[in-house]
Amino acid sequence: MSGGNPDVVIIGAGIVGAAIAERLSAERLKVIVVEADCAGSGATAAGMGHIVVMDDSEAQFALTAYSRRLWQEKEACWPKGAEYRRPGTLWVAADAGEFAAVEQKHACYGAHGVQSEILTAGELAREEPQLRQGLAGALRVPEDMVVYPPVAARWLVERARRQGAVYMQGARVEHTTGSVVTLASGTVLHTASVIHAAGARWGHLPLTIPVAPRKGHLAITDRAPGFLHHQIVELGYLKSAHGHETESVACNLQPRATGQILIGSSRQYGVQHAAVESPMLERMLRRALDYMPGLAGLPVVRTWTGFRAATPDGLPLIGRAPECEGLWLATGHEGLGITTSLATAELLAAQMLGHEPAIPVEPYSPSRFGERSAHA
Ligand SMILES: Cc1cc2nc3c(=O)[nH]c(=O)nc-3n(C[C@H](O)[C@H](O)[C@H](O)COP(=O)(O)OP(=O)(O)OC[C@H]3O[C@@H](n4cnc5c(N)ncnc54)[C@H](O)[C@@H]3O)c2cc1C
Repeated sequence: MSGGNPDVVIIGAGIVGAAIAERLSAERLKVIVVEADCAGSGATAAGMGHIVVMDDSEAQFALTAYSRRLWQEKEACWPKGAEYRRPGTLWVAADAGEFAAVEQKHACYGAHGVQSEILTAGELAREEPQLRQGLAGALRVPEDMVVYPPVAARWLVERARRQGAVYMQGARVEHTTGSVVTLASGTVLHTASVIHAAGARWGHLPLTIPVAPRKGHLAITDRAPGFLHHQIVELGYLKSAHGHETESVACNLQPRATGQILIGSSRQYGVQHAAVESPMLERMLRRALDYMPGLAGLPVVRTWTGFRAATPDGLPLIGRAPECEGLWLATGHEGLGITTSLATAELLAAQMLGHEPAIPVEPYSPSRFGERSAHA
């Protein structure tokens, strides 16, 4: 970047900040990315990396479907380490009631032009023989993908740098307005705009934003190539992800490129510490074993936690911060921030540059929570 103040300072180089840096530097904006730790740490390092179209609401469908397309358009770009693959998702129905939901889901995806197919109980058992017997069937969404998020984030930052962005690693923002960013080192950056992409952490912002950290556990097994072929999600996952219970678990299994099985997932509000909690982990693993009993033969080699940034309505905050000139928000992506990172970057860029966005931006506008509730 040549001399003078930057056009934009991005706080955070998780997958969201990294995607925005790549997008805005491609527009020849002078971009500085400030990252307290390293690119792709934070929730991005903890996430499962399932790129999935979700139908909890119209706005969520629009954002996830659009973003999945953007991931597909970049398919040829991702480095090998990003482990970009397309195993598809199986939404598994445990009983006749859930199978009815499969049919509704199929109709909804079809109405939005997203390919999916219904599997009967027999077809499901043939596709994934390790699932327990007696399940009612599933919905297969063949174009859903999987990536290894920290490598994807690092690649986006690297590409931003090649396009002229400046990346400050190990630099913590202590305070910001929409035009002045103060680092813990004492360095002060003056800029035309600031983008908060720091995930669940926002102590440096002059705002009280309605985002709560929602803790999640994950576990990964030893290698077992061929054990599992699709991302498996129980239909009850939607209830777990979008309910407001303090604690919940759902079966969510992912075959990694290494042959390992990634096991999720749990959700907890009101927990601030990152330690793995045995009772929660056990509950999550029991749920996974209930669907896939053969997992009992695979040693778990690592467990970890991460924090999702959750908004009250389950949609992210993408747009201008209320009552703070120059400040923009790109946070609150809960359990879908890997999926929706690329669309977030596009929608934010469109708003900042005055371009027509590919999908309506209003459902994600921070101002939907009211001017006063967002301002401290
Ligand atoms: C268990 C779990 C499973 C998940 N699975 C999936 C999934 O399968 N699919 C999916 O789409 N999403 C998934 N998610 C959600 C996804 O991981 C997050 O939504 C996404 O990573 C958020 O990215 P981010 O860039 O907004 O935040 P983060 O990745 O948290 O990045 C924020 C960055 O900001 C930096 N930072 C913070 N404060 C400061 C500061 N003051 N100064 C400078 N830098 C700062 C941090 O160091 C960090 O690197 C999962 C999340 C969890 C926890």
